[in-house]
Amino acid sequence: MTLQHLLDKQYFEKEDIVQLLATEGEEMQQLLQKAREVKFARLDNYVHLRGLIELSNICRKSCLYCGVRSDNHKVDRYELTEDEVLECAQMAHKLGYGSVAIQSGERNDKAFVEKITRLVKRIKEIDNGALGITLSLGEQSDEVYQEWFEAGAHRYLLRIESSNEELYYKIHPHDERHDFARRLACIDSLLKIGYQTGTGVMVGLPFQTLDVLAEDLLFFKKKDVAMVGMGPFIPHPDTPLYQYANQIPSAEDRMNLTLKMIAVLRLMMPEINMVAATANQTVDPMGREKAIMAGANVIMPNMTPNEYREDYLIYPDKACVSDKPEECYSCLDIRMKAIGHQILYNAWGDSVAFTKKISKLVN
Ligand code: SF4
Repeated sequence: MTLQHLLDKQYFEKEDIVQLLATEGEEMQQLLQKAREVKFARLDNYVHLRGLIELSNICRKSCLYCGVRSDNHKVDRYELTEDEVLECAQMAHKLGYGSVAIQSGERNDKAFVEKITRLVKRIKEIDNGALGITLSLGEQSDEVYQEWFEAGAHRYLLRIESSNEELYYKIHPHDERHDFARRLACIDSLLKIGYQTGTGVMVGLPFQTLDVLAEDLLFFKKKDVAMVGMGPFIPHPDTPLYQYANQIPSAEDRMNLTLKMIAVLRLMMPEINMVAATANQTVDPMGREKAIMAGANVIMPNMTPNEYREDYLIYPDKACVSDKPEECYSCLDIRMKAIGHQILYNAWGDSVAFTKKISKLVN
């Protein structure tokens, strides 16, 4: 099928997606342009911000790609105090970010769960609930997800990392703490509770094929998620997966593949929120802008106090680690204007797809 025929299709089969992901050069540019046009038509040129607060790098898991995995004993572990988190949230509000995202290594102990509940409630007290709250705190019980939802969190990000079970177990240990079925069940639980649920994958993993990536996109569509985050895989030298670093596509190819994944998903799910992940900017200084131009519409500027950021390196050489929040603010504004986009300040920036779905259910 010609590219034009493909781009005009209403629904993509798996083989269509594979063909789109295989485009190069001029054809790839046509795909990105089409995705951009669809985004502008459905979501305008707005970019939404989530002030990212990296609460703690203490984690019970040991994902094979992750720099802060529990088996990496080179990492200094930290945990922000409640007041430090509140200060970050207040700064995000002052800068007009509209939303914060709290991310942490995974913990299920009572003290952690209760701390999050208190924090969500305290953040909701800032200016009468002015800030939207996304949580990204891993796998939890249905009861804990419900407790945090009732406290005021309304978005939750739990990346599947790969929807292919075989690949999942190549990038995670195969044990009771890293269980593919459990991860799927958690995503279902979040959807059922009513969170704007986000997921995502790394692109350019060892053993990952275009077929597998196409299945990932179909998985997002089938689950009807509200948000997706995808970024290029960046091997971390202190992790087991690093042994395959010479078997993965080049940084440029991983970046291009990520852009094509974003673009194809924008065509498949025109009104979801899609994050231009920091990993894009790490492999390419213009990576975040390229992701926005390929169809992404969310950026997560880092609000974590600078002294802790070096200890939250899931992958190495992360971009903007030394930038102060105020510097990030003006830098982002200029960068987005330069590519014809505008940041929507002081707004939650909810997923339009999700908002429409809920209003259909209510009416
Ligand atoms: S990816 Fe998340 S859950 Fe896995 S080891 Fe890293 S911080 Fe923990």
